[in-house]
Amino acid sequence: MTGITPIVIVGGGAGGLELAAKLGRKHGADQVYLIDKETDHIWKPSLHEVAAGTLDIHREGLSYFMLARDCNFTFLLGTLVGLDKDNKQIHLAEAVNNAGQQLFPPRTISYGTLVIAVGSKSNFFNTTGAAEHAITLDATAQAEHFRLKLLHALTSGVTATEPTPLHITIVGGGATGVELAAELTEAVNSFHFYSINQLMPARRLSISLLEGSERILAALPPELSARATRLLQSRAIQVNTGVRVTEVQANQLIDSTGQVYPSDLCVWAAGIQAPFFLTELGLETNRIHQLVVNGQLQTAEPTIYAIGDCAQAPWVGSDGFLPARAQVAHQQASYLYKRLSALIQGHSSTTEFIYKDYGSLVSVGHTKGVGSLMGVLSGKSWFVEGLVARTMYMSLHLMHHAAVMGVVRTFRVVLGRLLLKRSAPRIKLH
Ligand SMILES: Cc1cc2nc3c(=O)[nH]c(=O)nc-3n(C[C@H](O)[C@H](O)[C@H](O)COP(=O)(O)OP(=O)(O)OC[C@H]3O[C@@H](n4cnc5c(N)ncnc54)[C@H](O)[C@@H]3O)c2cc1C
Repeated sequence: MTGITPIVIVGGGAGGLELAAKLGRKHGADQVYLIDKETDHIWKPSLHEVAAGTLDIHREGLSYFMLARDCNFTFLLGTLVGLDKDNKQIHLAEAVNNAGQQLFPPRTISYGTLVIAVGSKSNFFNTTGAAEHAITLDATAQAEHFRLKLLHALTSGVTATEPTPLHITIVGGGATGVELAAELTEAVNSFHFYSINQLMPARRLSISLLEGSERILAALPPELSARATRLLQSRAIQVNTGVRVTEVQANQLIDSTGQVYPSDLCVWAAGIQAPFFLTELGLETNRIHQLVVNGQLQTAEPTIYAIGDCAQAPWVGSDGFLPARAQVAHQQASYLYKRLSALIQGHSSTTEFIYKDYGSLVSVGHTKGVGSLMGVLSGKSWFVEGLVARTMYMSLHLMHHAAVMGVVRTFRVVLGRLLLKRSAPRIKLH
Protein backbone atom coordinates (compact mmCIF):
# COMPACT_ATOMS: atom_id res chain seq x y z
CA MET A 1 0.00 0.00 0.00
CA THR A 2 1.04 3.62 -0.58
CA GLY A 3 0.04 6.67 1.45
CA ILE A 4 -2.70 7.21 -1.15
CA THR A 5 -4.34 3.87 -0.38
CA PRO A 6 -6.59 2.45 0.79
CA ILE A 7 -8.97 4.60 -1.22
CA VAL A 8 -12.24 4.63 0.69
CA ILE A 9 -15.30 5.74 -1.30
CA VAL A 10 -18.45 6.48 0.68
CA GLY A 11 -21.66 6.25 -1.36
CA GLY A 12 -22.16 3.73 -4.17
CA GLY A 13 -24.44 5.81 -6.42
CA ALA A 14 -24.06 7.20 -9.93
CA GLY A 15 -20.57 8.56 -9.15
CA GLY A 16 -19.17 6.46 -6.28
CA LEU A 17 -19.99 3.03 -7.69
CA GLU A 18 -18.48 3.78 -11.10
CA LEU A 19 -15.32 5.03 -9.39
CA ALA A 20 -15.06 1.96 -7.13
CA ALA A 21 -15.61 -0.43 -10.06
CA LYS A 22 -12.93 1.21 -12.21
CA LEU A 23 -10.38 1.56 -9.42
CA GLY A 24 -11.10 -1.96 -8.12
CA ARG A 25 -10.48 -3.56 -11.51
CA LYS A 26 -7.15 -1.77 -11.78
CA HIS A 27 -5.80 -1.77 -8.22
CA GLY A 28 -7.58 -4.60 -6.37
CA ALA A 29 -9.77 -5.21 -3.34
CA ASP A 30 -7.12 -4.48 -0.70
CA GLN A 31 -6.65 -0.93 -2.03
CA VAL A 32 -10.23 0.07 -2.89
CA TYR A 33 -13.16 0.11 -0.43
CA LEU A 34 -16.75 1.09 -1.14
CA ILE A 35 -19.13 1.87 1.73
CA ASP A 36 -22.89 2.25 1.30
CA LYS A 37 -25.80 2.21 3.73
CA GLU A 38 -27.83 0.00 1.38
CA THR A 39 -27.13 -3.55 0.24
CA ASP A 40 -28.33 -2.96 -3.35
CA HIS A 41 -27.53 -0.32 -5.91
CA ILE A 42 -30.14 1.34 -8.08
CA TRP A 43 -29.51 4.06 -10.63
CA LYS A 44 -31.31 7.00 -9.01
CA PRO A 45 -32.78 8.45 -12.22
CA SER A 46 -34.93 5.27 -12.41
CA LEU A 47 -36.69 5.99 -9.13
CA HIS A 48 -39.72 7.63 -10.78
CA GLU A 49 -40.27 4.31 -12.59
CA VAL A 50 -40.03 2.40 -9.28
CA ALA A 51 -42.58 4.86 -7.82
CA ALA A 52 -44.98 4.33 -10.72
CA GLY A 53 -44.52 0.54 -10.56
CA THR A 54 -43.20 0.27 -14.11
CA LEU A 55 -39.82 -0.89 -12.81
CA ASP A 56 -39.54 -3.66 -10.24
CA ILE A 57 -36.86 -2.82 -7.70
CA HIS A 58 -36.46 -6.49 -6.83
CA ARG A 59 -35.32 -7.14 -10.39
CA GLU A 60 -33.49 -3.90 -11.07
CA GLY A 61 -31.35 -3.63 -7.91
CA LEU A 62 -27.74 -4.82 -8.15
CA SER A 63 -26.17 -6.34 -5.04
CA TYR A 64 -23.07 -4.46 -3.89
CA PHE A 65 -21.64 -7.75 -2.60
CA MET A 66 -21.91 -9.22 -6.11
CA LEU A 67 -20.46 -6.10 -7.73
CA ALA A 68 -17.56 -6.06 -5.25
CA ARG A 69 -16.69 -9.63 -6.16
CA ASP A 70 -16.98 -8.95 -9.92
CA CYS A 71 -15.12 -5.63 -9.93
CA ASN A 72 -12.54 -6.53 -7.29
CA PHE A 73 -13.23 -3.92 -4.61
CA THR A 74 -14.11 -4.44 -0.94
CA PHE A 75 -17.70 -3.58 0.00
CA LEU A 76 -18.66 -2.55 3.53
CA LEU A 77 -22.29 -2.12 4.53
CA GLY A 78 -22.43 0.96 6.75
CA THR A 79 -23.50 4.57 7.24
CA LEU A 80 -20.89 7.31 7.48
CA VAL A 81 -21.49 9.39 10.61
CA GLY A 82 -18.14 10.91 11.59
CA LEU A 83 -14.65 11.90 10.45
CA ASP A 84 -11.33 12.08 12.28
CA LYS A 85 -9.15 14.05 9.82
CA ASP A 86 -6.05 14.00 12.01
CA ASN A 87 -5.93 10.21 12.19
CA LYS A 88 -7.39 9.73 8.67
CA GLN A 89 -10.29 7.63 9.92
CA ILE A 90 -14.05 7.60 9.37
CA HIS A 91 -16.75 6.34 11.71
CA LEU A 92 -19.62 4.13 10.61
CA ALA A 93 -22.82 3.76 12.63
CA GLU A 94 -24.05 0.38 13.81
CA ALA A 95 -25.72 -1.49 10.88
CA VAL A 96 -29.07 -3.13 11.59
CA ASN A 97 -31.48 -5.23 9.50
CA ASN A 98 -35.20 -4.51 8.91
CA ALA A 99 -36.06 -6.26 12.18
CA GLY A 100 -33.71 -3.94 14.09
CA GLN A 101 -31.16 -6.70 14.73
CA GLN A 102 -27.51 -5.71 14.68
CA LEU A 103 -25.56 -6.80 11.61
CA PHE A 104 -22.37 -4.89 12.39
CA PRO A 105 -21.34 -2.85 15.46
CA PRO A 106 -20.12 0.77 15.03
CA ARG A 107 -16.80 0.65 13.16
CA THR A 108 -13.79 2.86 12.47
CA ILE A 109 -12.16 2.61 9.03
CA SER A 110 -8.75 4.04 8.13
CA TYR A 111 -8.16 5.66 4.75
CA GLY A 112 -5.29 6.96 2.69
CA THR A 113 -7.68 8.84 0.39
CA LEU A 114 -11.33 9.48 1.15
CA VAL A 115 -13.95 10.15 -1.56
CA ILE A 116 -17.34 11.31 -0.30
CA ALA A 117 -20.16 10.61 -2.79
CA VAL A 118 -23.26 10.39 -0.60
CA GLY A 119 -25.63 12.20 -3.02
CA SER A 120 -28.50 14.48 -2.03
CA LYS A 121 -32.04 14.47 -0.71
CA SER A 122 -35.09 16.65 -1.16
CA ASN A 123 -35.17 20.20 0.10
CA PHE A 124 -38.54 21.20 1.57
CA PHE A 125 -37.40 24.84 1.99
CA ASN A 126 -39.16 24.84 5.41
CA THR A 127 -42.57 24.58 3.71
CA THR A 128 -45.25 23.97 6.34
CA GLY A 129 -46.45 20.37 6.38
CA ALA A 130 -44.19 19.18 3.54
CA ALA A 131 -42.07 16.83 5.66
CA GLU A 132 -45.22 15.29 7.21
CA HIS A 133 -47.46 14.94 4.16
CA ALA A 134 -45.30 14.87 1.01
CA ILE A 135 -43.41 11.85 -0.29
CA THR A 136 -39.97 12.27 -1.82
CA LEU A 137 -38.09 10.11 -4.32
CA ASP A 138 -34.77 10.27 -2.48
CA ALA A 139 -34.19 6.54 -2.24
CA THR A 140 -35.70 3.19 -3.16
CA ALA A 141 -37.66 2.90 0.09
CA GLN A 142 -39.54 6.15 -0.55
CA ALA A 143 -40.25 5.29 -4.19
CA GLU A 144 -41.61 1.90 -3.10
CA HIS A 145 -43.65 3.61 -0.35
CA PHE A 146 -45.27 5.87 -2.97
CA ARG A 147 -46.01 2.89 -5.25
CA LEU A 148 -47.83 1.04 -2.47
CA LYS A 149 -49.84 4.15 -1.52
CA LEU A 150 -50.81 4.63 -5.18
CA LEU A 151 -51.90 1.00 -5.50
CA HIS A 152 -53.96 1.33 -2.33
CA ALA A 153 -55.45 4.69 -3.37
CA LEU A 154 -56.49 3.37 -6.78
CA THR A 155 -58.57 0.66 -5.19
CA SER A 156 -60.08 2.63 -2.32
CA GLY A 157 -62.25 5.72 -1.96
CA VAL A 158 -64.58 4.65 -4.77
CA THR A 159 -68.27 4.07 -4.50
CA ALA A 160 -70.08 1.69 -6.82
CA THR A 161 -71.90 4.53 -8.57
CA GLU A 162 -69.53 7.45 -8.69
CA PRO A 163 -65.78 7.04 -8.11
CA THR A 164 -63.98 10.14 -6.90
CA PRO A 165 -60.94 11.20 -8.92
CA LEU A 166 -57.55 10.49 -7.39
CA HIS A 167 -55.65 13.78 -7.14
CA ILE A 168 -51.88 13.54 -7.37
CA THR A 169 -49.87 16.73 -6.96
CA ILE A 170 -46.20 16.92 -7.87
CA VAL A 171 -44.33 19.92 -6.48
CA GLY A 172 -41.38 20.79 -8.71
CA GLY A 173 -41.30 20.83 -12.49
CA GLY A 174 -37.68 19.74 -12.93
CA ALA A 175 -36.70 16.45 -14.59
CA THR A 176 -37.88 14.36 -11.61
CA GLY A 177 -41.36 15.92 -11.49
CA VAL A 178 -41.88 15.86 -15.26
CA GLU A 179 -40.72 12.25 -15.62
CA LEU A 180 -42.87 11.06 -12.71
CA ALA A 181 -46.01 12.82 -14.03
CA ALA A 182 -45.68 11.16 -17.43
CA GLU A 183 -44.81 7.76 -15.99
CA LEU A 184 -47.87 7.82 -13.74
CA THR A 185 -50.31 8.25 -16.62
CA GLU A 186 -48.87 5.11 -18.24
CA ALA A 187 -48.84 3.22 -14.96
CA VAL A 188 -52.52 3.87 -14.34
CA ASN A 189 -53.39 2.64 -17.84
CA SER A 190 -51.55 -0.57 -17.01
CA PHE A 191 -53.40 -0.96 -13.69
CA HIS A 192 -56.69 -0.65 -15.57
CA PHE A 193 -55.42 -3.07 -18.24
CA TYR A 194 -55.08 -5.71 -15.50
CA SER A 195 -58.61 -4.82 -14.25
CA ILE A 196 -57.34 -3.89 -10.85
CA ASN A 197 -60.67 -2.12 -10.33
CA GLN A 198 -62.81 -4.97 -11.58
CA LEU A 199 -64.98 -4.99 -8.45
CA MET A 200 -65.29 -1.21 -8.44
CA PRO A 201 -65.43 1.51 -11.10
CA ALA A 202 -61.98 2.80 -12.04
CA ARG A 203 -60.76 5.97 -10.36
CA ARG A 204 -59.80 8.72 -12.76
CA LEU A 205 -56.36 10.14 -12.18
CA SER A 206 -55.94 13.90 -11.95
CA ILE A 207 -52.26 14.93 -11.99
CA SER A 208 -51.12 18.49 -11.31
CA LEU A 209 -47.53 19.61 -11.69
CA LEU A 210 -46.76 22.77 -9.67
CA GLU A 211 -43.64 24.72 -10.55
CA GLY A 212 -42.36 27.95 -8.96
CA SER A 213 -40.63 29.29 -12.10
CA GLU A 214 -42.41 30.61 -15.14
CA ARG A 215 -41.72 27.36 -17.04
CA ILE A 216 -41.06 23.71 -16.24
CA LEU A 217 -37.51 22.36 -16.80
CA ALA A 218 -36.34 25.90 -16.07
CA ALA A 219 -32.64 24.91 -16.13
CA LEU A 220 -32.97 23.69 -19.74
CA PRO A 221 -33.56 25.64 -22.98
CA PRO A 222 -37.04 27.28 -23.28
CA GLU A 223 -37.83 25.30 -26.47
CA LEU A 224 -37.39 22.07 -24.51
CA SER A 225 -39.73 23.30 -21.76
CA ALA A 226 -42.36 24.16 -24.36
CA ARG A 227 -42.13 20.72 -25.98
CA ALA A 228 -42.31 18.91 -22.64
CA THR A 229 -45.33 21.04 -21.60
CA ARG A 230 -47.15 20.10 -24.80
CA LEU A 231 -46.43 16.40 -24.26
CA LEU A 232 -47.64 16.51 -20.65
CA GLN A 233 -50.79 18.44 -21.53
CA SER A 234 -51.57 15.93 -24.28
CA ARG A 235 -51.75 13.38 -21.44
CA ALA A 236 -54.22 15.56 -19.52
CA ILE A 237 -51.60 16.57 -16.93
CA GLN A 238 -52.22 20.07 -15.55
CA VAL A 239 -49.04 22.11 -15.75
CA ASN A 240 -49.15 25.07 -13.32
CA THR A 241 -46.16 27.42 -13.45
CA GLY A 242 -45.32 30.47 -11.30
CA VAL A 243 -46.89 28.68 -8.32
CA ARG A 244 -45.16 28.82 -4.93
CA VAL A 245 -46.54 26.16 -2.61
CA THR A 246 -46.59 27.46 0.98
CA GLU A 247 -48.38 24.65 2.79
CA VAL A 248 -48.93 20.93 2.33
CA GLN A 249 -51.86 19.35 4.16
CA ALA A 250 -53.09 15.75 4.23
CA ASN A 251 -55.59 16.29 1.41
CA GLN A 252 -54.69 19.63 -0.19
CA LEU A 253 -51.92 22.09 -1.04
CA ILE A 254 -52.07 25.86 -0.63
CA ASP A 255 -50.02 28.36 -2.65
CA SER A 256 -48.79 31.87 -1.81
CA THR A 257 -51.94 33.47 -3.30
CA GLY A 258 -54.18 31.26 -1.14
CA GLN A 259 -55.27 29.01 -4.00
CA VAL A 260 -56.07 25.43 -2.95
CA TYR A 261 -55.16 22.28 -4.92
CA PRO A 262 -56.86 19.01 -3.91
CA SER A 263 -54.22 16.34 -3.21
CA ASP A 264 -54.64 12.71 -2.16
CA LEU A 265 -50.96 12.01 -2.79
CA CYS A 266 -48.25 14.66 -2.91
CA VAL A 267 -44.73 14.12 -4.25
CA TRP A 268 -42.08 16.71 -3.41
CA ALA A 269 -39.47 17.14 -6.14
CA ALA A 270 -38.74 20.84 -5.81
CA GLY A 271 -35.08 21.06 -4.91
CA ILE A 272 -32.15 19.26 -3.35
CA GLN A 273 -29.79 19.53 -0.42
CA ALA A 274 -26.88 17.36 0.69
CA PRO A 275 -27.26 15.31 3.91
CA PHE A 276 -26.98 17.47 7.05
CA PHE A 277 -24.25 15.32 8.69
CA LEU A 278 -21.76 16.71 6.14
CA THR A 279 -21.85 20.02 8.03
CA GLU A 280 -20.57 18.23 11.13
CA LEU A 281 -17.41 16.72 9.62
CA GLY A 282 -15.21 19.79 10.12
CA LEU A 283 -15.06 20.48 6.36
CA GLU A 284 -16.39 23.59 4.59
CA THR A 285 -19.99 23.30 3.42
CA ASN A 286 -22.39 25.65 1.62
CA ARG A 287 -25.98 26.77 2.35
CA ILE A 288 -27.39 23.42 1.14
CA HIS A 289 -24.83 21.35 3.09
CA GLN A 290 -22.71 20.47 0.03
CA LEU A 291 -18.97 20.01 0.60
CA VAL A 292 -17.02 22.82 -1.03
CA VAL A 293 -14.35 21.43 -3.38
CA ASN A 294 -11.80 23.00 -5.73
CA GLY A 295 -11.29 22.37 -9.46
CA GLN A 296 -9.55 19.08 -8.64
CA LEU A 297 -12.55 18.00 -6.54
CA GLN A 298 -10.58 18.26 -3.29
CA THR A 299 -11.86 19.71 -0.06
CA ALA A 300 -9.49 21.97 1.93
CA GLU A 301 -8.12 18.63 3.25
CA PRO A 302 -6.13 17.42 0.18
CA THR A 303 -6.71 13.71 0.87
CA ILE A 304 -10.49 14.17 1.00
CA TYR A 305 -12.45 14.52 -2.25
CA ALA A 306 -16.18 14.93 -2.87
CA ILE A 307 -18.10 14.19 -6.08
CA GLY A 308 -21.68 14.17 -7.35
CA ASP A 309 -24.69 15.85 -5.76
CA CYS A 310 -23.03 16.24 -2.34
CA ALA A 311 -20.26 18.48 -3.72
CA GLN A 312 -20.24 22.13 -4.68
CA ALA A 313 -17.69 22.01 -7.48
CA PRO A 314 -16.72 24.97 -9.66
CA TRP A 315 -17.85 24.82 -13.27
CA VAL A 316 -14.43 25.50 -14.77
CA GLY A 317 -14.83 27.99 -17.63
CA SER A 318 -17.90 29.65 -16.11
CA ASP A 319 -18.72 31.64 -12.95
CA GLY A 320 -21.12 29.05 -11.57
CA PHE A 321 -21.12 25.62 -9.98
CA LEU A 322 -21.82 22.23 -11.54
CA PRO A 323 -25.46 21.07 -11.56
CA ALA A 324 -26.63 18.03 -9.57
CA ARG A 325 -26.89 15.55 -12.43
CA ALA A 326 -25.96 11.94 -13.07
CA GLN A 327 -23.87 13.11 -16.04
CA VAL A 328 -21.72 15.26 -13.74
CA ALA A 329 -21.25 12.43 -11.19
CA HIS A 330 -20.30 10.03 -14.01
CA GLN A 331 -17.69 12.37 -15.52
CA GLN A 332 -16.26 13.22 -12.09
CA ALA A 333 -15.83 9.49 -11.40
CA SER A 334 -13.86 9.09 -14.64
CA TYR A 335 -11.69 12.11 -13.78
CA LEU A 336 -10.94 10.86 -10.24
CA TYR A 337 -10.19 7.37 -11.52
CA LYS A 338 -7.42 8.78 -13.72
CA ARG A 339 -6.19 11.19 -11.04
CA LEU A 340 -6.04 8.63 -8.21
CA SER A 341 -4.53 5.92 -10.44
CA ALA A 342 -1.77 8.37 -11.42
CA LEU A 343 -1.20 9.28 -7.76
CA ILE A 344 -0.86 5.59 -6.81
CA GLN A 345 1.80 5.31 -9.52
CA GLY A 346 3.61 8.34 -8.09
CA HIS A 347 2.48 10.93 -10.66
CA SER A 348 0.74 14.05 -9.45
CA SER A 349 -1.21 16.38 -11.72
CA THR A 350 -2.70 19.85 -11.56
CA THR A 351 -5.28 19.18 -14.29
CA GLU A 352 -8.72 20.39 -13.25
CA PHE A 353 -12.02 18.64 -13.83
CA ILE A 354 -13.65 20.03 -16.97
CA TYR A 355 -17.32 19.17 -17.34
CA LYS A 356 -18.48 18.43 -20.89
CA ASP A 357 -22.19 19.17 -21.18
CA TYR A 358 -23.55 16.72 -23.77
CA GLY A 359 -27.06 18.14 -23.35
CA SER A 360 -30.10 16.96 -21.41
CA LEU A 361 -32.69 14.28 -22.00
CA VAL A 362 -35.98 13.97 -20.18
CA SER A 363 -38.18 10.89 -20.39
CA VAL A 364 -41.88 11.61 -20.93
CA GLY A 365 -43.24 8.09 -20.57
CA HIS A 366 -42.07 4.80 -22.04
CA THR A 367 -42.19 5.74 -25.69
CA LYS A 368 -41.49 9.46 -25.68
CA GLY A 369 -38.82 11.85 -24.53
CA VAL A 370 -37.51 15.33 -25.20
CA GLY A 371 -33.97 16.54 -25.16
CA SER A 372 -31.38 18.98 -26.33
CA LEU A 373 -28.02 17.59 -27.34
CA MET A 374 -24.75 19.45 -27.72
CA GLY A 375 -23.13 19.10 -31.12
CA VAL A 376 -19.62 17.76 -30.43
CA LEU A 377 -18.03 19.72 -33.26
CA SER A 378 -20.34 22.71 -33.64
CA GLY A 379 -20.89 23.31 -29.90
CA LYS A 380 -24.51 24.25 -30.78
CA SER A 381 -27.49 22.44 -29.29
CA TRP A 382 -30.18 20.62 -31.29
CA PHE A 383 -33.46 19.09 -30.22
CA VAL A 384 -34.59 15.50 -30.20
CA GLU A 385 -38.09 14.32 -29.44
CA GLY A 386 -40.24 11.18 -29.33
CA LEU A 387 -38.89 7.65 -29.49
CA VAL A 388 -35.40 8.80 -30.54
CA ALA A 389 -35.07 10.93 -27.38
CA ARG A 390 -36.49 8.15 -25.21
CA THR A 391 -34.04 5.60 -26.68
CA MET A 392 -31.11 7.93 -26.10
CA TYR A 393 -32.34 8.51 -22.53
CA MET A 394 -32.36 4.74 -21.91
CA SER A 395 -28.85 4.46 -23.30
CA LEU A 396 -27.62 6.69 -20.41
CA HIS A 397 -28.78 4.04 -17.95
CA LEU A 398 -27.08 1.34 -20.01
CA MET A 399 -23.85 3.35 -20.12
CA HIS A 400 -23.91 3.46 -16.31
CA HIS A 401 -24.39 -0.33 -16.17
CA ALA A 402 -21.59 -0.82 -18.69
CA ALA A 403 -19.22 1.41 -16.70
CA VAL A 404 -19.89 -0.76 -13.64
CA MET A 405 -20.35 -4.28 -15.01
CA GLY A 406 -18.69 -4.15 -18.42
CA VAL A 407 -20.37 -4.34 -21.84
CA VAL A 408 -20.81 -8.13 -22.06
CA ARG A 409 -22.46 -8.49 -18.66
CA THR A 410 -24.68 -5.46 -19.35
CA PHE A 411 -25.79 -7.03 -22.63
CA ARG A 412 -26.67 -10.29 -20.83
CA VAL A 413 -28.61 -8.46 -18.11
CA VAL A 414 -30.55 -6.40 -20.66
CA LEU A 415 -31.38 -9.47 -22.73
CA GLY A 416 -32.53 -11.34 -19.62
CA ARG A 417 -34.76 -8.45 -18.58
CA LEU A 418 -36.28 -8.15 -22.06
CA LEU A 419 -37.18 -11.84 -22.07
CA LEU A 420 -38.60 -11.63 -18.55
CA LYS A 421 -40.67 -8.59 -19.53
CA ARG A 422 -42.52 -10.66 -22.13
CA SER A 423 -43.72 -13.13 -19.51
CA ALA A 424 -44.29 -10.81 -16.53
CA PRO A 425 -46.97 -8.14 -15.97
CA ARG A 426 -45.98 -4.77 -17.43
CA ILE A 427 -46.45 -3.21 -14.01
CA LYS A 428 -45.78 -4.36 -10.45
CA LEU A 429 -49.19 -5.37 -9.12
CA HIS A 430 -48.42 -6.43 -5.56
C1 LIG B 1 -36.44 10.48 -9.89
C2 LIG B 1 -35.13 11.10 -10.30
C3 LIG B 1 -34.86 11.28 -11.66
C4 LIG B 1 -33.65 11.83 -12.06
N1 LIG B 1 -33.42 11.96 -13.40
C5 LIG B 1 -32.22 12.41 -13.80
C6 LIG B 1 -31.92 12.50 -15.19
O1 LIG B 1 -32.77 12.20 -16.04
N2 LIG B 1 -30.68 12.93 -15.58
C7 LIG B 1 -29.73 13.27 -14.64
O2 LIG B 1 -28.61 13.65 -15.03
N3 LIG B 1 -29.97 13.21 -13.32
C8 LIG B 1 -31.19 12.80 -12.88
N4 LIG B 1 -31.44 12.72 -11.53
C9 LIG B 1 -30.38 13.15 -10.58
C10 LIG B 1 -29.35 12.04 -10.42
O3 LIG B 1 -30.01 10.88 -9.96
C11 LIG B 1 -28.28 12.47 -9.42
O4 LIG B 1 -27.69 13.68 -9.88
C12 LIG B 1 -27.20 11.40 -9.29
O5 LIG B 1 -27.74 10.16 -8.89
C13 LIG B 1 -26.14 11.86 -8.28
O6 LIG B 1 -25.19 10.85 -8.12
P1 LIG B 1 -24.38 10.72 -6.76
O7 LIG B 1 -23.36 9.64 -6.99
O8 LIG B 1 -23.92 12.04 -6.31
O9 LIG B 1 -25.45 10.25 -5.67
P2 LIG B 1 -26.48 9.06 -5.66
O10 LIG B 1 -26.62 8.44 -6.99
O11 LIG B 1 -27.71 9.61 -5.01
O12 LIG B 1 -25.80 8.00 -4.67
C14 LIG B 1 -25.56 8.30 -3.30
C15 LIG B 1 -25.25 6.99 -2.60
O13 LIG B 1 -24.78 7.30 -1.28
C16 LIG B 1 -25.36 6.41 -0.34
N5 LIG B 1 -25.33 7.09 0.96
C17 LIG B 1 -26.01 8.20 1.32
N6 LIG B 1 -25.69 8.57 2.57
C18 LIG B 1 -24.78 7.68 3.01
C19 LIG B 1 -24.05 7.54 4.23
N7 LIG B 1 -24.17 8.40 5.24
N8 LIG B 1 -23.21 6.49 4.36
C20 LIG B 1 -23.07 5.60 3.36
N9 LIG B 1 -23.72 5.69 2.18
C21 LIG B 1 -24.55 6.72 2.00
C22 LIG B 1 -26.75 6.15 -0.90
O14 LIG B 1 -27.30 4.93 -0.41
C23 LIG B 1 -26.47 6.09 -2.41
O15 LIG B 1 -26.17 4.79 -2.84
C24 LIG B 1 -32.66 12.21 -11.09
C25 LIG B 1 -32.94 12.03 -9.73
C26 LIG B 1 -34.16 11.49 -9.33
C27 LIG B 1 -34.45 11.32 -7.86
